[in-house]
Parts: sequence; structure tokens; C-alpha cells
Amino acid sequence: MSASAAPAESFAQFAIRPEIAAALEQLGFEQPTPIQQRCIGPLLEGHDLIGRARTGSGKTAAFGIPLIESLVDGSGLRALVLAPTRELAMQITKALRDYAARLPLRFATLYGGAAYQPQLAALRRGVDCIVATPGRLLDHVRRGNVTLKTVRLLVLDEADEMLRMGFIDDITEIFELTADDRQVALFSATMPKPIREVAKAYLKDPAEVQVEQRGFSADHIDQARIDVPSAYKLEALVRVLQAKSPGATIIFARTRQSCDELASSLCDRSFNARALHGDMSQAAREDVLSALRTRRLDLLVATDVAARGLDVEHITHVINFDLPEESEVYVNRIGRTGRAGRSGKAINLVTRRDHNTLRRIEAQLKRRIEVVGVPSDAMILGRQREALEGELLSAIEHPDQPQVRRLIEMFHQQGWTDERLLSGALGILMRDRQLEIQEDISDQPPLWARQSEGRGGDRHGRKDRPGRKDRPGRNDRVDRPDRKSRGDRKDGTSDRPRQQGGQPVDANAVTLSLPVGSEHGISPRDIVGALTNELGLPYAAIGRIHIADQEARIAVSREAADHLLSGRKAFFLRGNPVNFGDAPPRSTPKPRTKKHHKPRAKRR
Ligand code: AMP
Repeated sequence: MSASAAPAESFAQFAIRPEIAAALEQLGFEQPTPIQQRCIGPLLEGHDLIGRARTGSGKTAAFGIPLIESLVDGSGLRALVLAPTRELAMQITKALRDYAARLPLRFATLYGGAAYQPQLAALRRGVDCIVATPGRLLDHVRRGNVTLKTVRLLVLDEADEMLRMGFIDDITEIFELTADDRQVALFSATMPKPIREVAKAYLKDPAEVQVEQRGFSADHIDQARIDVPSAYKLEALVRVLQAKSPGATIIFARTRQSCDELASSLCDRSFNARALHGDMSQAAREDVLSALRTRRLDLLVATDVAARGLDVEHITHVINFDLPEESEVYVNRIGRTGRAGRSGKAINLVTRRDHNTLRRIEAQLKRRIEVVGVPSDAMILGRQREALEGELLSAIEHPDQPQVRRLIEMFHQQGWTDERLLSGALGILMRDRQLEIQEDISDQPPLWARQSEGRGGDRHGRKDRPGRKDRPGRNDRVDRPDRKSRGDRKDGTSDRPRQQGGQPVDANAVTLSLPVGSEHGISPRDIVGALTNELGLPYAAIGRIHIADQEARIAVSREAADHLLSGRKAFFLRGNPVNFGDAPPRSTPKPRTKKHHKPRAKRR
């Protein structure tokens, strides 16, 4: 069947009870959203339905309103909603309770990872509707705590997510446990084959409702990418947070451990951040979510599973610290912002390894994700100054101003000038806010970001990379013995400018050393690759490279040397962990040199 009826423009057009209409009014729902316009009618008429809609489109009310309406008469379990995660299940129950605020209906939420007893107690008290994750629901069924035979309406929310989480067999089992003539509503952002098969097997002539472009819809979200060397992701994130001062933000990281580490690194830098992932107890997770909802928490660092279905309206930004592999996961993540018709922003930190993934996501979204630079010191300072200005203005308008004036007069009486007073007061403010204003504020992105920046220049990220001819080859940048004696100092540093790949290293080049060499299979190419890709050095900052048996010496610009030594970033060269910070240039011993060293010969 096709849902061809004219879409309803107001909730009054539906045959819903006044109690529900009043509850919707109280919630501030004035007009049905497009998915509601098209779903509520067919569901009220008793049709099965397949709804394709993104999270944030209002799909909970699209099935929730007819579900509550169907519960008004009768008693006992009559409606069942399946959801992939406990967070989503709890959220759905809350929404249903809101719609049914003026009706005497009873709900139970059943989800894994929590004690059985309270769930059993709720079932024993009697329920009209269960919202559940499939696994825990079946546990209760098997223990004889509940029977599903009486279910008249079965809703599957985020069916594709349930499939991804391995619930497909549980879902079919649940279908088999319900009566044949129950009504079914299936919501899914995408329609993978197993879900289509379930729909074919269990839905009868369903109305198909699709309010947005097939599959993906993230058009209302502003999306940006920041190219960053992998070792500098945290620094890039911190700069973004400092320069943009976003409102409530979800930062997605790949693993539970990286969520914990990232949240704690952000807290160390005075951000208000907490992690959310599956290793945490239910109570701890609920505590974090409640802090986010009540605006006591700014930054939530989460895994996909923990944040699935999370609906917090005031999320202004989603930051992908680690880019997801699949475009559907990407859409789901960024759908945490831009809720209920608001605009939202998504920022992706993209390393070289992510380029293919991002290209795939762009192709699926049929949209180019705009490249933006890592914020410069000047941008960060500008933002901090703006924030300070805002606070100063509101302090000036604050009702306690007469007291402030009295304090100023007291200082004046003691001979303080306005200027002296102001510099003291601002000094305290700057110290409290850890505001640092250097003499030379750079309006350039940090050095490590400059090499990465050009990568977004074309779709393949090749814009500013040297052509094959100019790239360092096997024998490029190798310090040849016949040239070596010209101007190198005994302490291992060199101040001789050198032309490489057509680009000069600055006149104050410094030679740094790493404790790996040809005996570790290291070639100049490995070093250039690591310095540019992992540590974000521009090609132009790298000069000659000398490989000895157990040591590599690399000439770099003075600026690059400062950056490498202060960053103390560990990285890998052919599996060997190395760190410039461990080997300051002045203490570099002079390496034993190999005549006419051929970097790759050993590996053949
Ligand atoms: P959902 O897609 O069901 O998770 O809903 C996303 C958000 O939109 C939730 O915060 C709902 O409360 C809100 N919402 C749903 N329907 C409406 C409506 N008709 N008018 C205003 N807000 C709505």
C-alpha cells in the first residue's frame, strides 16, 4: 500500500483523544513533523507501516501517538516497542509517558546490563506497553515473566541498528511470539536486505513512508573536516574547542579506553568533559546523561553504542575525534545534533588514514565536506577576548553594580588610578582564565597543521603534495660522505641551508638525531613519511637525512626542531618507537658513517 493521503498540517486533523492533544500542546508540539504527518493517519487506521526517517525527525511521536491512542481502551500488555539500546529504550518510554501524561497507562522498560528484579516488579504490577531491547525481552519471556501473545501493536525502532548489533534472530523470534494479526510499524534509517526480508515475512501490505532522500539525510547539519596529523589530534581538538567554544558537544571516539583517555586529557586542560561507554555501570551512565541534559556537562566523549539514539536537544556540535568506518554510523552520529529542526554542526578530525573512508562518506551523502583549518593562536585569543567582553558587559549590567562602584570609590580614596585598578583586575581575570597573550600572536595555524592543510585541496587530498618527481626518493636527502664534511659541526648540528625538492630549509637548520638506523631497516623515505604524516611537518622543513647503522640524523628548520622537541611525540619507524624529545640535538653523538650508503639494499 502507498501512503498517499494528503499530509495533515495540524494534530487536530487526526482522530486523537483530547488528553493526548493536550499533552502534545503542553510539550510545545504545534505542528506534526513530515514523518508524523504521513505516519500517524495510516497507523491510526490500523495499517502496517515502514518508515524511513533519520533520528531527530520526530519519529518517536510518529508511532508514539497512535500507540497511546491504541492503548486507551482495554487492559494488559497491548503494545511492544523494540529498540537497539537501553538509552534509546529509556528515551522512548519517557516520550510515551509524556504523550500519555493525562491517561492512566503503565509502561515498563526492559534492557540488558541492569538488575532483573525491578523490571520483574514492574511487569508484575501490570503493564499496558513494554519498551525493550530484544535480548533482555526474550530473557524475561523465557523466564515466564511475560507473554507476548496479547501484543496488538509491535514497533521496531532503528531496525537497521538492531540488525547491526546482532539482534536479527531475536527479532524474528519475537515476531513469532506475537499473534499473527498484530499491527507492525518498522522504522529504519536504511533498509539492508535482512530488514527487508523481515518486513516481507511479517508485515502485511505496509504503508511505506519516506520523508527524506533515500538513505541519508544530514543536509541540515553543517559539516566540516580538519586535516590533522595523527599524533596531533588532541591538540587539534583542544584548539577547535578553544576557538569555537561550542555549546553542549558530543565527541565520538573509537574505543571505550580512548573515550576515558580523551575525557581525562580534556579535563586536565580545564574542559568540563566526561566519558560515556559500555564499560560503565548503568548508574554511572545515567549520571553522565543527566548531567548533559541538565546542562551541567559541556563535553560528552562517547562510543557509538553508548550514544545511540541519544536525544538531547541542545547539542550544538558533534566532533568525530575518530572517524567511523561506515557512512550510516556517520549519519547516526551527526544526527545527535540538529535535533527538532535546529541547526547543528559536525566537525571531523581527519588523518591521512581516513581519506578513503571520508571519500566514501562524501559519496554516500552526495556532499562535499568543507575543509577548514586548525584554528590559529590569534583565532583562539580572539574568541577568548570575545567571551571576556561578553562577560564584562553582563557584569556592567548586573544589579550588584552599585556595590562595585562603592569599591571603586574606596580604591580612589586610597589614591588608585582607574588604569592601575583596571590592570590589577584584568590581571586577576587573566590568571583565573589561564589567558595567555604572547607578544607575537600567530595568525597562522600551528606548524604541524600546515602540511595537512593542503590535503583537502582536492577530493584526493593531493593538492599541495609534491609530484612524483619532487618527492623524496630512495637516494634523496641522503647525506653523502663527499658532501658531509662541508660545514657540519662536531656536535651533530648543521647551519648550512640546503635546497630539497625545490624547497629551502631555513638558514638556521638544526640536525636532530634518532636512535635507529640502517640496522633497523630505516630509509630516508620512512623518516620523511613519518615526519610529514605522523608529525605534520611540511616537506619544506626537512633537509638532509643521514642514516648510519644505529642512528638517523635529520636536518630540519629551527622552527620545526622547536616543534619536534617540545612536542615529544612518540612515533614509529618500521615498528620502532622513537621520540625526538629523548634525544636533544646538542647531545647527539657523531654517527659512524657508511660510505655510499644505499638505504634499501638491505631489505631486498
Ligand atoms: P525523535 O526523532 O522522535 O527522536 O524526535 C526528535 C525531537 O523532536 C524530540 O526532542 C521531540 O521531542 C521533538 N519533536 C517531535 N515531534 C515534534 C513536533 N511535532 N513539534 C516539535 N518538536 C517535536
